[in-house]
Amino acid sequence: MRIRVDTELCQGHGRCYVLAPGLFEADDDGYCQPTAERPVAPELADQARRAERNCPEDAILLTDT
Ligand code: SF4
Repeated sequence: MRIRVDTELCQGHGRCYVLAPGLFEADDDGYCQPTAERPVAPELADQARRAERNCPEDAILLTDT
């Protein structure tokens, strides 16, 4: 699984880093970081799916590899 965040869509609601603290953190303005596509460790796959489901802007994109 790989994950990335569409920076054009992200509005900084912060649900991702609350629900998936192993994958995201906030930048100084409350937007999630990191945004670059990267692999998800198997033990963090549930957090990744939770973050994707709960992002109100559909800014979190998951792909299977
Ligand atoms: S939940 Fe979605 S919109 Fe909110 S900070 Fe995370 S990626 Fe951005």
